[in-house]
Amino acid sequence: MSVFDHSEYDQHESLHYFQDTKSGLKAIIAIHSTALGPAAGGCRHWQYANDDSALVDALRLSRGMTYKNAVAGLPLGGGKSVILADAAGPGSSELFAAFGRAVDSLDGRYITAEDVGVNVNDMRIVRNETRYVSGLPQDGKNAGGDPSPWTALGVFLGMEATAKARLGVDSLSGLRVAVQGVGHVGLQLCRLLHKADAIITVADVNRRNLQRVRDEMPVTESPPNDVLFSDVDILAPCALGNVLNSETIPRIRARVIAGAANNQLSVEEDGARLVEQGILYAPDYVINAGGIISVSREYFGQGSEEEVRADVSRIPGRLQSIFDEAAAREIPTNIVADELARRIVADGNGAAEVEQVA
Ligand code: NAD
Repeated sequence: MSVFDHSEYDQHESLHYFQDTKSGLKAIIAIHSTALGPAAGGCRHWQYANDDSALVDALRLSRGMTYKNAVAGLPLGGGKSVILADAAGPGSSELFAAFGRAVDSLDGRYITAEDVGVNVNDMRIVRNETRYVSGLPQDGKNAGGDPSPWTALGVFLGMEATAKARLGVDSLSGLRVAVQGVGHVGLQLCRLLHKADAIITVADVNRRNLQRVRDEMPVTESPPNDVLFSDVDILAPCALGNVLNSETIPRIRARVIAGAANNQLSVEEDGARLVEQGILYAPDYVINAGGIISVSREYFGQGSEEEVRADVSRIPGRLQSIFDEAAAREIPTNIVADELARRIVADGNGAAEVEQVA
């Protein structure tokens, strides 16, 4: 099959494959759209079942970044990179150096940052090879650094808004929340939930990450395969995508879904399945935009942590508008969000004229 006919290709502007035999790098960089600015999206380091799974992930994540950046009002297009890992565990510094050179070869059409399996130290190595990278620690109170605490804050605030809309509550205190995946974002989210007196259930396939949460706060542990179906008020998918599908949705007991994972819905129709089930779904790329909001301000050298906080605190309002429109038109929230994103990209709105100073 031609890649142009691939079901997930969806009019990507370009697709780039990189191989470096010395470091073992095999990577794909997908650029979905540069209509609003340079394509920005994190780098995922993951062991894929095969090359096609890696391609599908890159294409779906990249399109999601176009939508995320558009709805967040950022002067950025959408792109994403995946590094095909040989084995589970961290990548070597040679690998990330080679990846940095790959990013640099695109001359700024793609800006990278952290995603699953990639940390700030990896991005420091990338920075030695290219300036088209963000998510690095900054001096003083300047915006930037690890994006995951900002993602977690946006998810937490968005979760409050979604719970209010669906359950009519003003706080998460006493509500039961299941968090699937307690990595960078999941851990920070648990900290915020604990502070808000929520009752937390967690699951992770990584024992060390689970233990880290257990050491900090009281949580109930769920087996990874069951956590989606926990008897809770709110489900927060914070691991990988495709968790909401025709098989899982009928078994979900939570009435609110608000989490950080990208591409939570397996297919668009899953949004309608959630509605039928009486579940209010916070569209993933709207609620999880906190990290890219920080990345954007850092990359363009614009502003302080306070300004990032102010931008991130707009996420609940954005969600509320989507919920209102979905209710008024009797359509699922994911459809409202997708329509909004496509409209913004088509209009070229959101792309302020910004000089890169990195
Ligand atoms: P991470 O790699 O730090 O954490 C992911 C966690 O999920 C890990 O602890 C992993 O062991 C766990 N996990 C994997 N498969 C699992 C399974 N089947 N069941 C339970 N746990 C499982 O990644 P992260 O940065 O925390 O990102 C989490 C999700 O949020 C990803 O989908 C990512 O794309 C999305 N996201 C992250 C950011 C960010 O700022 N880091 C921003 C937007 C979206």
